[in-house]
Amino acid sequence: MFDQTLLSKLKGRPTPFFYYDLALLETTLGTAQAEAGRYGYHIHYALKANANLPILAKVQKAGLGADCVSIGEVNRALAAGFAPGQIVFAGVGKTDRELVAALQAEIFCFNVESVQELQVLDQLAAQVGKTATVALRINPNVEVNTHKYITTGSAENKFGIPPRDFAALVALLPSLTHVRVRGLHSHIGSQIRDMDNFKQTCLKFNEMRQWFEQQGLSFAYLNLGGGLGVDYHQPDDQPVADFAHYFATMHQYLQVVPGQEVHFELGRSLVAQCGSLVTQVLYTKQGEAKNFAVVDAAMTELIRPALYQAYHRIENLSHPGAATTQYDVVGPVCESSDFLGKDVPMPLTERGHWLVVRTAGAYGQVMASNYNLRDLAEAVYSDQV
Ligand SMILES: *Cc1c(COP(=O)(O)O)cnc(C)c1O
Repeated sequence: MFDQTLLSKLKGRPTPFFYYDLALLETTLGTAQAEAGRYGYHIHYALKANANLPILAKVQKAGLGADCVSIGEVNRALAAGFAPGQIVFAGVGKTDRELVAALQAEIFCFNVESVQELQVLDQLAAQVGKTATVALRINPNVEVNTHKYITTGSAENKFGIPPRDFAALVALLPSLTHVRVRGLHSHIGSQIRDMDNFKQTCLKFNEMRQWFEQQGLSFAYLNLGGGLGVDYHQPDDQPVADFAHYFATMHQYLQVVPGQEVHFELGRSLVAQCGSLVTQVLYTKQGEAKNFAVVDAAMTELIRPALYQAYHRIENLSHPGAATTQYDVVGPVCESSDFLGKDVPMPLTERGHWLVVRTAGAYGQVMASNYNLRDLAEAVYSDQV
């Protein structure tokens, strides 16, 4: 991606900055849509992965819907041109103000995460004279092979309605006159590359759907969430995530009643690989047993290593030779967890070199903060250079 032509165009820009390859984004979106389209599936893009307007414009143009987890994201989706009928509103802690605003915007569907939220939504909808279309987010209790902070589908988890509440929910429904339960939803976590996790989810989901249908509910939409992972170690081997395998697995194991639409909410797998964080080496330091490269990007630009011990591939753009040394690549923020990579193999690295942190398009810029009163990094798009 970062060949000499691109580097010479980027030269002179203030670092750090995010660089987005919009051609790769388009290819990724096109592949995802084609693979989902084989089975008539619909994808809503999870804005929380990256909500930059030029990214959203491409997503909207590719025909995906929007999956939002705050009214801020709902408003951003509307600003990016998504129709209200393409917007889903999820999240475990929607405030009354957010629910009312989303009701007034007449979004497509609320993914409801508890019995209490369903009751509150019913009351608020009655107050504003609307009826809310709802999908029940169930917790399928599937253990997934990913970092513990990004699993969401196991029993001891704040997300979703646990099975022990199902009977009470069904008993309550006839009294709720301003909500219309039309969908069943689950999302088990993120950065999942083991297809067996999705298979297990489908099997649990089938059981739970059947149970609800036996109680007299019928679902027009099944929503299996997101979670497909990407290759952080070898981004160039698989620049586009394995959508074919993902949707084929879902198609194989998810039972669908005729007339039911199937929806997905993908975030990371759509935008992770198109984004990179470019940073400059400020200082190099030799510790007792370690070499440090102190760079001008930090956890304020990319918090994933500090937050989830996440791995990102780091390359030296100024000296693309063979790796001879290992460096801890660390930022200027006053926290020991402020690192971008540990024991990173690189060629001899010097002050002024540009490094690139790969696969930073998802959960990167969108989690930026100005802690230490640092400036926010800019975004550079491939069609602007
Ligand atoms: C975060 C989230 C997603 C997107 O997850 P990815 O792993 O980025 O695909 C989808 N649905 C819900 C409810 C989420 O919270």
